[in-house]
Amino acid sequence: MLSALCHGELLIKVIKCKAAVCWGPKQPLTIEEIEVAPPKAHEIRIKIVSTGICRSDDHVIAGAISNINYPVILGHEAAGIVESIGEGVTNLQPGKACNLKDC
Ligand SMILES: [Zn+2]
Repeated sequence: MLSALCHGELLIKVIKCKAAVCWGPKQPLTIEEIEVAPPKAHEIRIKIVSTGICRSDDHVIAGAISNINYPVILGHEAAGIVESIGEGVTNLQPGKACNLKDC
């Protein structure tokens, strides 16, 4: 499926990318192709350049945290480039480097 939205002068589409997916507790991560929707109002979409698995992510993999809705994509401590922005986003522009703690 490929859909597109007209966003100002830009054509923003659903994109496909690779992600390490955790399917459940104590399951090996698998690399999957996923679809990422265009950013909605007050959201941004980031092209991840670097990420890792932190201790919190490791707890998710081990099943030590309750209320996790698997499957889940881990790696919330990441850095990348703003790829597109949703309506109402004024403090970031496409092409800006950021880390997920600052975005
Ligand atoms: Zn973390």
